[in-house]
Amino acid sequence: MTDVVIFLGPPGCGKGTQADVISDKTGLVKLSTGDMLRSAVKSGSDLGKKLKSVMDAGELVSDEIIVAIIKERLNQSDCSKGVILDGFPRTLPQAEALGEMLSDSSDYIIKSAIKFDIADEILVGRIAGRFSCSNCGAGYHDHFKKPVKEGVCDNCGSREFTRRSDDNEATVKSRLQAFYDSTEPLYQYYHAQGLLAIIDADRPIDEVTAKILGIVK
Ligand code: AMP
Repeated sequence: MTDVVIFLGPPGCGKGTQADVISDKTGLVKLSTGDMLRSAVKSGSDLGKKLKSVMDAGELVSDEIIVAIIKERLNQSDCSKGVILDGFPRTLPQAEALGEMLSDSSDYIIKSAIKFDIADEILVGRIAGRFSCSNCGAGYHDHFKKPVKEGVCDNCGSREFTRRSDDNEATVKSRLQAFYDSTEPLYQYYHAQGLLAIIDADRPIDEVTAKILGIVK
């Protein structure tokens, strides 16, 4: 059986950071729909341009596009090691589509949906300070996770960094609204299936990692 672990939580709760660490420690493959969409935007295609305007407005990309992207990705052979879903599902129809996808395959099973519990006030400060390496994508933060050597990526040595265009205050407000309108109901959805685990996401990175490892191992 191949494990599927779902990370659920608002923007800035630490899902992406933890998905990278947990993937390193367990071999589970991180599937981030946000990363996939950002690389489509980078390609400059017509679809990429449309996606960028939706993402910069802090709105959600259509379920149809997202489900098609994930379906294709889950069919790739590396996913047989097990996956962490970071940023998917984000709506009830996406969760139902995931359930159908998995029931069509006898291999995958949802091991846990992990709720990253955190107060709104903390999220905005976390998002405002984050940046990543332009070369390898490693994530950093002005206060919580600086590169060991200032201006140099710990992972690949690059000196080029970037900040997400949707990490500004106005867009963050819309992203939070989208979270409460569309994603929060998924806590109840997975709780009803006995799959929801809750972690306190307002703890140091290592502590949160240890909690998650206790759930996924
Ligand atoms: P993230 O990197 O997860 O914060 O996602 C960045 C943006 O990509 C979101 O604000 C949405 O516009 C879009 N996005 C990512 N994942 C999804 C999803 N599962 N459903 C709809 N839109 C998504």
